[in-house]
Amino acid sequence: KSGFVSIIGRPNVGKSTFLNRVIGQKIAIMSDKPQTTRNKIQGVYTTEDLQTIFIDTPGIHKPKHKLGDFMMKVATNALREVDAILFMINVTEPKGKGDEFIIEKLKELDTPIILVMNKVDLIHPNDIPPIIESYQNELNFAAVVPISALQGNNVEPLLQEIAKIL
Ligand code: GDP
Ligand code: MG
Repeated sequence: KSGFVSIIGRPNVGKSTFLNRVIGQKIAIMSDKPQTTRNKIQGVYTTEDLQTIFIDTPGIHKPKHKLGDFMMKVATNALREVDAILFMINVTEPKGKGDEFIIEKLKELDTPIILVMNKVDLIHPNDIPPIIESYQNELNFAAVVPISALQGNNVEPLLQEIAKIL
């Protein structure tokens, strides 16, 4: 099995921390020319039966000016091309405008989405279900996985959920 996965989420939710944990070795960007989505490989996670190719689809954020609309469209279309999206949130922060903006964009897509609830090491387990509910009210998820990217908790089950989709 093999497939393309994109991680999206507000700044500081832990996307880089997750990638660095999963991917032993960073892959350098191959060219400084404008690239198609699939060339923006951040790293590849490989096991015996699974190859997950993480690609960078930047730009899912609230546009600040006119040019932003075009970039938004490019970013949204890039997300149509991947096989799965990891929508990462920071469970220690309330759902904000940045999250809502991403949610609205994700509603336009058919791509399977996994809700990755990061930084669960910082909250009580009892606080997790209400957060899940508040996101499930707005979007359908292929899976919901609480993790700690920093400590590595539950990262393996998340990779297994990705494998189910690919
Ligand atoms: P990004 O902007 O989404 O790439 O976020 P980063 O990966 O740069 O992480 C932002 C900050 O959150 C850093 O200080 C990380 O160490 C911290 N962080 C990331 N994941 C976790 C986690 O699971 N638990 C805790 N406590 N901190 C985390
Ligand atoms: Mg980052």
